[in-house]
Amino acid sequence: MRSANSIFANVGTSIFEVMSRLAIEHKSVNLGQGFPDGNGPDDVRAFAHKALDDRPNQYPPMMGVPELRQAVAAHNKRFYGIEADWQTEVLVTSGATEALNDCINGLVEPGDEVVLIEPLYDSYLPILKRAGAVPRLVRIAPPKWELPEEQLRAAFSPKTKFILLNTPMNPAAKVFTREELARIAALCREFDCFAVCDEVYEHIIFDGRPHVPLMTLPGMRERTIRMGSAGKTFSLTGWKVGYLTGPRHLIEPVARCHQFVTFTTPPNLQRATAYGLGKDDAYFHDLAAGMQRSRDRLRAGLERIGFGVVDCQGTYFISADFRPLLAKGPLRGFNGDDVELCKKLTVEAGVTAIPVSAFYQSDAPRHFIRFSFCKKDETLDSAIERMEKYFGRV
Ligand code: PMP
Ligand code: GLN
Repeated sequence: MRSANSIFANVGTSIFEVMSRLAIEHKSVNLGQGFPDGNGPDDVRAFAHKALDDRPNQYPPMMGVPELRQAVAAHNKRFYGIEADWQTEVLVTSGATEALNDCINGLVEPGDEVVLIEPLYDSYLPILKRAGAVPRLVRIAPPKWELPEEQLRAAFSPKTKFILLNTPMNPAAKVFTREELARIAALCREFDCFAVCDEVYEHIIFDGRPHVPLMTLPGMRERTIRMGSAGKTFSLTGWKVGYLTGPRHLIEPVARCHQFVTFTTPPNLQRATAYGLGKDDAYFHDLAAGMQRSRDRLRAGLERIGFGVVDCQGTYFISADFRPLLAKGPLRGFNGDDVELCKKLTVEAGVTAIPVSAFYQSDAPRHFIRFSFCKKDETLDSAIERMEKYFGRV
């Protein structure tokens, strides 16, 4: 038999799917894959329901329904002061996952270099490699996740096509500071390259930090594409509605790719997302405040149990070092890594997390696990209670 494409044949099933399946099998509390356990805002869902019945369900325009493109442009202006022409500078995709694929395949020529900051979201590398890009990885490591200036500069070269930046960052829960963004922007200008910014967690950011799109820095408007996701902004991860904003010369080739990947996205979900983006400030404030409360609840539980909890500035995720738990209790004598620990916790404690090593290409730190806190209080409490029992603190 002939073989399939070697990148996808060898990449394995995504860690999120693997751990979610294991969680179902063992009926564990799933704090692995990042999905809220509510059902999203009632009014946004009701809007989608009504649009399904009352509005056309045939192919919408390839770039996205006008209402949503206008809403994305208005959202950019409202939150960040970014002016964008909704007709030429906004593109709707089937989730940020598709948006990433379209940006990569729409912009990369084989041999181009792309700068990435590790740990990174699991879809980035396979798609980049399939497009023939050469990844240039810069590493940040827990618990401080500091961006090393020298390595960052060394990752750029005359072959750099773009940097793929994720802020707020999954799984590090790091929000890049203005100074870090300024350094990145200066390198993009110096090496005359683009930036593709995965900003799906733009509204899930804590402790009063602002979200600063790289696009708003001097000289970046013409070289940056930024993406958002209705999945995250409306706690509806199954919807898969993503949106890109960027200059026409970048959106155009990306849209050419999109037209041959999905071509469009379900029109009622697009319309409901447009409605959602127009919600009042209280909605966006409460989204972040609610997630922050959940972060605090889970963090307090993990600290009580004895994990070494890492700072969490945004996203759905908090990481924890399990080494402090190795001295006694059920982990005494355990010398496995984070992957083995996540399996063990699922089977023996009834709680599922994600190994942080899954977000590194090689030589990953092996003693951090990532928990999702985008959950109801009962879910978080039940996970904490199970772990407290398991680790013998109750
Ligand atoms: N980027 C990051 C960093 C993510 O965590 C996610 C979440 N799945 C995505 C992209 C994909 O978003 P979507 O569900 O809209 O495809
Ligand atoms: N973004 C989600 C996470 O990091 C997972 C999305 C997926 O399963 N593809 O948990």
